[in-house]
Amino acid sequence: MKNIDILCCVCKQRSDLKMINDILVCTNVNCHHSKESNCFRIINGSPIIISEVECDTLCSADKIDSYVDRSESSLPVRALRRIVSGKPKVTEDNCSDFVSLLRKANKKSKVLIIGSGEIGNGTEQLYKSKDIEILGTDIYLSNTVDYVSDAHFLPFKSQSFDGVWIQAVLEHVVDPHKVVSEIIRVLKDEAYVYAETPFMQQVHEGPFDFQRFTLIGHRYLFKSFELIKMGGNQGAGVALSWSLRYFFWGLFRSRLLATIVSMPFTILLRFLDKFLDKSSLYDSSSGVFFLGKKTQSQLPQKDLIDLYKGMQ
Ligand SMILES: [Zn+2]
Repeated sequence: MKNIDILCCVCKQRSDLKMINDILVCTNVNCHHSKESNCFRIINGSPIIISEVECDTLCSADKIDSYVDRSESSLPVRALRRIVSGKPKVTEDNCSDFVSLLRKANKKSKVLIIGSGEIGNGTEQLYKSKDIEILGTDIYLSNTVDYVSDAHFLPFKSQSFDGVWIQAVLEHVVDPHKVVSEIIRVLKDEAYVYAETPFMQQVHEGPFDFQRFTLIGHRYLFKSFELIKMGGNQGAGVALSWSLRYFFWGLFRSRLLATIVSMPFTILLRFLDKFLDKSSLYDSSSGVFFLGKKTQSQLPQKDLIDLYKGMQ
């Protein structure tokens, strides 16, 4: 198991955890998880630190016992996926900036990836950087998950990380403000966050989809961070192709048929995105991103209005 020294319980006291044989218990005698019968289990080296007693959570620790295989798909499947979803150029550039900032600030950085169950598009450079230690957490087990936890209750001591990467996750959390408060807590002073979240996209992952953010709304979510960079990741063409796919899905009652029928539109609309006015990203991008540095001050609401550079 990686980095037991940075782990803590998810109870209000955030007490230390103690390893007994191959389980973890809380060192606070008043915590439900201080008893061995209520321990946190460790599966294949990954602790399951979820508490339905100490926390209000959608997750259930008991249900996590199977390993979700998210290993690389075959070449034709990856090629097809690349045609449908395109090259994640904006994310790749942002990932490169995130890595450079970490390198400038530290010789060796520790980065937490929230939602690491599946490797995010455009994150290759982060995973390949030998001077950056990657630790991943998600609500299920996979070969890229080191700790199973609910992002509303991160099982890490305060000021443990030099960076947090959270991509395509905040739409799936019930209370994004609580999740960001946890990100702030586990980050060191002046550490970095990168978040990428849908704006103009339909519901995905069924009932586990709760939020969408405009670019400015997303920036305000990270009000305790100094802005380094923010923007839209993909244009209105990609957003429109999402709409078309869901339109055909409703019409044909078949997701597969909808994907096939909408594919030519997806390819054409993605191409046409190149010709759109850049300011349209503020009004109709498919997703938004924010790269920032943790500060002690908070962005005043009045400063938000000047951040808007859209078409209106
Ligand atoms: Zn505890």
